[in-house]
Amino acid sequence: MSRSAHPAGPRYADVLPEGHYSGPPTDLNTLDPKVWARTVGRNTDGVATVGGLEVTRLAEEFGTPAYILDEDDFRARCRAWAEAFGADADVFYAGKAFLSRAVVRWLHEEGLNLDVCSGGELATALDAGMPADRIAFHGNNKSPEEIERAIRAGVGRIVLDSFQEIVRVAHTARELGVRQRVQIRVTVGVEAHTHEFIATAHEDQKFGIPLAGGQAAEAVRRALALDSLELIGIHSHIGSQIFDTSGFEVAAHRVIGLLRQIRDEHGVELPEIDLGGGLGIAYTPADDPREPHHIAKALHEIVTRECESAGLRTPRISVEPGRAIVGPTAFTLYEVGTIKPLDGLRTYVSVDGGMSDNIRTALYDAEYSVALVSRTSDAEPMLSRVVGKHCESGDIVVRDAFLPADLAPGDLIAVPATGAYCRSMASNYNHALRPPVVAVADGAARVIVRRETEEDLLRLDVG
Ligand SMILES: *Cc1c(COP(=O)(O)O)cnc(C)c1O
Repeated sequence: MSRSAHPAGPRYADVLPEGHYSGPPTDLNTLDPKVWARTVGRNTDGVATVGGLEVTRLAEEFGTPAYILDEDDFRARCRAWAEAFGADADVFYAGKAFLSRAVVRWLHEEGLNLDVCSGGELATALDAGMPADRIAFHGNNKSPEEIERAIRAGVGRIVLDSFQEIVRVAHTARELGVRQRVQIRVTVGVEAHTHEFIATAHEDQKFGIPLAGGQAAEAVRRALALDSLELIGIHSHIGSQIFDTSGFEVAAHRVIGLLRQIRDEHGVELPEIDLGGGLGIAYTPADDPREPHHIAKALHEIVTRECESAGLRTPRISVEPGRAIVGPTAFTLYEVGTIKPLDGLRTYVSVDGGMSDNIRTALYDAEYSVALVSRTSDAEPMLSRVVGKHCESGDIVVRDAFLPADLAPGDLIAVPATGAYCRSMASNYNHALRPPVVAVADGAARVIVRRETEEDLLRLDVG
């Protein structure tokens, strides 16, 4: 069997989604800053570095697979979002993208707020010292215990997601003698994914209360009537991995329509509007996300314009980026195990992780890129599929990518843009041990979430 490229096999153009073909790869050694964390580069020996540290050294010290997170990049992105939105807006980092004590401290230090959506996320946030009034509590099925903990802790807002929850939160707040600040999450009939959005007549999903049919207006009526609730605004989150602001424009138009209706009916102008998260990042060089200052400018303009035409004071805006902050800051470092060329098809490159550390490819057909990072190579590009070690043929990390044809077991390869929804969605499938998260800053690396051990697994197994 030959380990060379497969000239008779599918072409790069054939495997990429429409519109993504930008020519055959000319240089497999370049680490495109579009998809790699800010401080990633290569040293003179061709070894990739992050924060000045060689990935070979990181692999030796921390093992593979490992998530390597560029702390400077994370902090810079926090600052970029905070500065872009300015003093008359609030940025909430969506903790579900990736949350740990260190992350909470960075957010706190950089002046961001935090979204949590479970008791576990709330516990992590409070344990690491996030002031409760900078925490927003989300979720479509918060338990009575979670609601009580959140109110006792003094969270800044609870985002109400159903009619039952209005009653539950009001009841618990009253019992505790608290007037709880709340928002109502509405569904505006807009669904945005990547490059497109769909405006639908009705809202067929589990989150939020539909604007359609007057349901949201009824929720507002009920919340305003309850003394233990302070209704501060309306919340809308329209999707994920969104690249333009047209979906937000429709959402803002509809939410502000509700604000106007509330003003007309109740004589109340709600002071806040939360437009959610969902801003996209570059997973491959074909993606073109917008910078935070572009997004901030567009959202401010949309809200200001809509409010002017509705005769409303412009409310304070909140946004909730998760992926856009943490996604680009980390890559997953793997060691190449077996290599299986399938003539006329592609070469399967197996790594020491897989769907247990990155479920997004299997779950959403997500696209990723990959690079050889322990050295450079001038070998021919080889059409490859990077797969894991799990007992599942859908265990794919990178569906279509080119790697150099001289790739060999023991080489290190890395998948960029795995900071969001990879460690936070990691599983123990096949009793895999979830990889550590190693933060790199100022030429030093430290574990912020340690690798799981077999002892960890067996500790839960009490049969
Ligand atoms: C998931 C979620 C976010 C963050 O989404 P990203 O795509 O990571 O930006 C923000 N707000 C709410 C309510 C969410 O559910």
